[in-house]
Amino acid sequence: MAVERTLSIIKPDATARNITGKINAVFEENGLRIVAQRRIRLTKQQAEQFYAVHAERSFFDELTDYMSSGPVVVQVLEGESAVLKNREVMGATNPANAEEGTIRALYGQNVQENSVHGSDSPENAAIETAFFFAATDIAG
Ligand code: ADP
Ligand code: MG
Repeated sequence: MAVERTLSIIKPDATARNITGKINAVFEENGLRIVAQRRIRLTKQQAEQFYAVHAERSFFDELTDYMSSGPVVVQVLEGESAVLKNREVMGATNPANAEEGTIRALYGQNVQENSVHGSDSPENAAIETAFFFAATDIAG
């Protein structure tokens, strides 16, 4: 196993409920270190760019409206197999299907407002990290 980094976003449903610290605690309890973090408000256009892979999906407009509806916390998580580890810690996309103890089971509200985003491959982690952070923003 190798130490990796992955891109995480705490989504607007979670910032609205003031639970970013609770979510960060789950990362840290599971061995993921927050090595960069910033709270920002995405524009609709930035949300569309970030989720461009989903441009053809039926929920794209709704998703990008939601992601630009309030502040988000963008962050880089570091740890052993961090990409896969974070996907496990997040839980399934639909909180109704997420395993007990996962962030989405604990805090997700529905299939859209599911509290967190996490990169799904090391390649996408690199692309998504560069979308928000310069190398000098990250201190491991
Ligand atoms: P994940 O975030 O688990 O990687 P996807 O990449 O499939 O899931 O989808 C990206 C995001 O789009 C989801 O996290 C969720 O916010 C939203 N989404 C996914 N499926 C739906 C759906 N059926 N209806 C509404 N929003 C959805
Ligand atoms: Mg995805």
